Amino acid sequence: MAYDFDLFVIGAGSGGVRAARMSSSYGARVACAEDTHLGGTCVNVGCVPKKLFVYGSHYSHDFADSAAYGWDVEPKSFSWPTLRDNKSKEIERLNGIYANLLDGAGVTTINGTAVVTGPNEVTVDGKAYSTERILVATGSEPFVPKFPGSEHAITSNEAFFLDDFPEKVLVVGGGYIAVEFAGIFNGLGVDTVLSYRGDLPLRNFDQGIREFVTTELNNSGIDVRLGSNVAGITVAAGGGYQVEFVDAPVEAFDLVLYATGRKPRIEGLGLAEVGVTLSAGGAVEVDDYFQTSVPSIYALGDVIDRFQLTPVAIAEAMCLSSNLFKGTSLAMDYADIPTAVFCQPNIGTVGLTEEEAEAKYGKIDVYQSEFKPMKHTLTGRNERSMMKLIVDPVSDAVVGAHMVGSEAGEITQGLGVALKAGATKAQFDATVGIHPTAAEEFVTMREVRA
Ligand code: FAD
Ligand code: NDP
Repeated sequence: MAYDFDLFVIGAGSGGVRAARMSSSYGARVACAEDTHLGGTCVNVGCVPKKLFVYGSHYSHDFADSAAYGWDVEPKSFSWPTLRDNKSKEIERLNGIYANLLDGAGVTTINGTAVVTGPNEVTVDGKAYSTERILVATGSEPFVPKFPGSEHAITSNEAFFLDDFPEKVLVVGGGYIAVEFAGIFNGLGVDTVLSYRGDLPLRNFDQGIREFVTTELNNSGIDVRLGSNVAGITVAAGGGYQVEFVDAPVEAFDLVLYATGRKPRIEGLGLAEVGVTLSAGGAVEVDDYFQTSVPSIYALGDVIDRFQLTPVAIAEAMCLSSNLFKGTSLAMDYADIPTAVFCQPNIGTVGLTEEEAEAKYGKIDVYQSEFKPMKHTLTGRNERSMMKLIVDPVSDAVVGAHMVGSEAGEITQGLGVALKAGATKAQFDATVGIHPTAAEEFVTMREVRA
């Protein structure tokens, strides 16, 4: 049977755009449907605008620190509409680039909400398209638990477009988005409370890194409250919100941001109806080759809920397109994925945490360094950095590298290459440092931590 397309991609986000472009470059006839903005979460309400806000929020510290270096930049003030609107203009520019990329690759872009109406059929706004294969790359959406007044909380989606900038904000959650947005608001001069239900934020990160960064978040001016739970939110008479906590007094905030995880975006997609198996949490279940329980339907990216990271969605898309249209049988290698949390200071991490390495190898060697960054020897800012290498003493392989400090994300990318290449501690030691940098600590640590 002649289909309209060889591949119909649902979702023009990080994974969908890459799969569409690569598949088309291998000769496939590809359509890509998008119902919001080209570029998906990362470009529109994720990585990119978030990083622009992080840059913006650094200036308050930089202005304050500059005095020790002889600069006088008073008076200073911050205009939220300027930052918000400049960010939006840049995102619109990127939307245009994505449209050109898809066009240039020969992909048919279709605006509208797609529904899977059969194993080989996708319907967009009432028009049905036949296709040999379907790729579900619909991403994820914020999850907010239901409680009295939960409808008053915003999510990261809305935080990028606020009409009114708050003076006092409550950020709820202890994951990537909560700590990043707490840092953004704090840096932009907002009185910021971070409320997390557990004993330390950033579950699954190295325990020592979690402890260290929590101290740094507090030192940076964020009021980090651990073991803290919200019971309800009501609208305050004079504007803003009254937040009722379990075991803590009621407190007023101008804004409450919930960053309590993201769930796969599958509602109304018609997947269960055509027989696609979903996990209890709503993730699309796929095998090593991104194939669902319906052989003509594939899925990747946030919607399969393995690692919710843009480079992972892109790498999965590269594997899938190559397998479908270039005849390879590549499986995605999820080992040693480097990642950064753009809190202030940043966290960079790759490989095993100390706890995971201990469980895997038994005895491990840990090399650890904590120091005041050189920049702050003059400014006196209460900020410290931490670096950690985890080594398997039997093979001498470095199996984990972790950092809290300025530009940890930039530094960790290179360490990711070293770990992927199987570098040993002896090879780290044999590498000449770059002086004076913070990163040189990674090649100069010699004493195993007691
Ligand atoms: P998405 O990029 O979400 O794309 C899915 C697309 O599908 C969307 O455009 C959506 O509108 C569309 N869609 C959904 N359903 C339909 C339908 N039925 N019909 C048509 N279109 C549909 N990752 C990092 O690596 N680094 C970061 O710094 C980072 N920061 C982040 C910050 C925030 C605030 C958030 C929320 C996420 C961040 N992420 C970051 C995660 C990253 O954005 C995601 O992992 C990535 O975008 C997932 O790509 P995807 O292709 O799976 O989905
Ligand atoms: P995360 O899964 O990282 O964190 C969710 C947080 O919310 C956890 O601290 C969790 O607590 C808490 N939580 C969950 N349910 C509740 C609840 N009912 N009540 C109170 N707290 C709750 O999700 P995020 O929303 O922060 O981010 C989603 C994903 O997006 C990330 O995991 C990451 O993959 C990606 N991302 C990546 C970024 C980057 O690369 N820099 C930046 C931003 C997002 P607990 O730990 O106790 O379960």
